[in-house]
Amino acid sequence: MSKWKELALEVLNGHVISKEEALEILNSSDMDLLEVLQGAYVIRHHYYGNKVKLNMLINTKSGLCPENCGYCSQSSISNAPIEKYRMVDKDTILKGAEQAYQLNAGTYCIVASGRGPSNHEVDQVVSAVKEIKDKYQLKVCACLGILKPEQAAMLKEAGVDRYNHNLNTSENHHDFITTSHTYQDRVDTVEVIKEAGISPCSGVIVGMKETKEDLVNVAMSLRVLDADSIPVNFLHAIDGTPLEGTKELNPRYCLKVLALMRYVNPTKEIRISGGREVNLGSLQPLGLYAANSIFVGDYLTTSGQATTADHQMLEDLGFEVDFVKETVQ
Ligand code: SF4
Repeated sequence: MSKWKELALEVLNGHVISKEEALEILNSSDMDLLEVLQGAYVIRHHYYGNKVKLNMLINTKSGLCPENCGYCSQSSISNAPIEKYRMVDKDTILKGAEQAYQLNAGTYCIVASGRGPSNHEVDQVVSAVKEIKDKYQLKVCACLGILKPEQAAMLKEAGVDRYNHNLNTSENHHDFITTSHTYQDRVDTVEVIKEAGISPCSGVIVGMKETKEDLVNVAMSLRVLDADSIPVNFLHAIDGTPLEGTKELNPRYCLKVLALMRYVNPTKEIRISGGREVNLGSLQPLGLYAANSIFVGDYLTTSGQATTADHQMLEDLGFEVDFVKETVQ
C-alpha cells in the first residue's frame, strides 16, 4: 500500500494532517501524483461516494466595486473591459434559478460585487430567494461581501442555505492581495454567517504568488473556521488586473492542491471553482478524485466550458450528479 493511501486511511481514523504532512503533499513529485490522488479519493469516496454536486452562479451586480482585490476584474483598480451593472431585477435572478434547476445544479449561487451589500440590495435578494424557495427545491448560496449580523439574519429568514465569503489566501499573504479590507474582516464575516445559522462556505484562490506554506496555512485556517464548503479557485489572471500575466500553475500542481484540501478537510465539500478549465486543462477529470463539486455554466466575468462537456466528463468518470432536492441541514 502506498504511503499516501496509508495516510488517507489514518485520516479516516481521525488523524489530523500536520503542517509537515500537508507541505509534503504539495511538494510530492509528479511520479507520486496518482498515489496522492488515490489517497484523496479514498477519503472523498468515504464521505461522498461517486456523487458530484453541481453549483451554478449568477452575477447579480458586476464591477463598480470600491475595493482593490488584485485578482478581481470588478475592482476599482481594474481596467479589464467587463460589463458593469447595478443589481439586476428579481425576474433575472429567478430566471437564473430556473436555469440552475434545469442544469441539475443542486445549488444556485447569488453573487454580487462590492465590499458588502446595502440594505436595499439585501432586500432585493431576500425577495428573490423567498420566491425561488417557493418554486424550486434548490439550495441557495449568497455571496454579497462583508455582512452585518442583521443582514445575515434577514438572509437566513428568507431561506438562504449557505453564504460564501472566501479567505482567499493566508493571513500572511492577504495584504499583498488587497489593502482595502483585512483578513480579519473576512474571518469576521464567516463568523457572522455561522452565528446566523447559515452554512459557511469559504475557500481560496490559488496562484496569486503565494508560497506553498501560505496554501497550507489557509487550508488549516479553513479547518479551524469549520467551513462546510471550500471552493478552490485557480487564478485565471485577467488582463487589466494587477495580477495580469501571472501564470504560476500547472495542472499537476492544481491536483496536488485539491488533494491537500481533501486530506486537511476530509469531510467537507471541496469544489473546483473558477479557473478550472484554464488551469487544469485536460487533467480536469482527475480533480474530481479529490473534489466532489464543480460549477457549471459561466463564472463571474469569464466563461466556463459547455455544460454538456461537464456532464459527459462525469459520465466518463462513472460519477453521478448529486441532485438531491433538499435544503442544507
Ligand atoms: S473580490 Fe469582491 S470585494 Fe474584491 S474587488 Fe472583486 S467584487 Fe470587490
